[in-house]
Amino acid sequence: METVRLGKTGLMVSRVGMGGIPLIRPPFNRAVKVITRALDLGINLIDTSPGYDDSEVRIGKAIAGRRDDIVIVTKTRWSSKKQALKGLEISLRQLNTYYIDVWLLQNVSTFEAYEMLLQPDGALSVAREALESGKVLHIGISTHSMAVAQKAVASGFFEVIMFPFNFVTNHAEEQLVPLTNKHDVGFLAMKPFAGGQLAEADLAMKYLLQFNNVVPLPGIETIENIEEIVEVVEGSWKLTKQDWQRIEDIRAKQGSKLCMWCEYCKPCPLGINIPWVMNIESMWILWGAKGFRKFFLDFIEQAKTCDRCGECEEKCPYQLNIMDTLAEQIEFYEREIKNNL
Ligand code: SF4
Ligand code: SF4
Repeated sequence: METVRLGKTGLMVSRVGMGGIPLIRPPFNRAVKVITRALDLGINLIDTSPGYDDSEVRIGKAIAGRRDDIVIVTKTRWSSKKQALKGLEISLRQLNTYYIDVWLLQNVSTFEAYEMLLQPDGALSVAREALESGKVLHIGISTHSMAVAQKAVASGFFEVIMFPFNFVTNHAEEQLVPLTNKHDVGFLAMKPFAGGQLAEADLAMKYLLQFNNVVPLPGIETIENIEEIVEVVEGSWKLTKQDWQRIEDIRAKQGSKLCMWCEYCKPCPLGINIPWVMNIESMWILWGAKGFRKFFLDFIEQAKTCDRCGECEEKCPYQLNIMDTLAEQIEFYEREIKNNL
């Protein structure tokens, strides 16, 4: 498979990587086979996190004996220095490796959180220590906030950024891709299928492949998934007139619903955790019953109290139809999830 340079890391990575969340869904040995098949087809970048159930363990098993050919991206959800270092050791052990290629400071969604990680004893200093020790080779950041992403890319502190990007949630096209090019920061596109809500895998891949410094990270669960994606990558990526028409149709249908998880709509006066509830369907598609946490139920119950005051919609920079989408997500939960838990 064709490779591209991942920004200033200089790492040469496959044109698409593999997102590690759906790997937790199949039985263990089948997941290992899926990863092995992806590696055999030329995919050499795998994204995971110690927070994705046993995703790292499965990947660790699959890469045994070929570690040096693989670029591993994993993450730390910063809470304290002690916790971050402990998390790094867990990742190393689970992934069966001595080093992480790219360590991302995960989900830094507000300026306050961003400023905190730059403090003398903050996440960035811990990441730099890990860099010096050789346990981490490159430092990156993941965020759902465009403002934080832009600041992080321009800061010079990070070699890689992970940000949501697909043909519906496509604000990165103008607001982030040129900036990552300018600062030579590698761009890993999360949610290329909008968390499983875009069924058109061919279209989603072709769209992202138009950007030659963007590496999409499709979540992969089956051998068929990976073979379909590789076929697109190795075929023609040119978007035809019909493809653009399909994109426009899907944008018109889905564009007011797909939540970026940027949290600008918070706080809700009734305490509703809007981004989580907006994403219930996509979390169900990605994580399944295994990843469905009990606290989601509290969020759903809380969301049922929405009095349609409209405050959240005024704050959402993507003009999403939040109130109706919350109601649809609750309905989806009642119809599809409740009886399958
Ligand atoms: S419309 Fe509902 S979810 Fe939005 S702020 Fe008001 S109560 Fe909260
Ligand atoms: S509803 Fe809008 S403001 Fe709230 S997290 Fe989603 S995209 Fe952001």
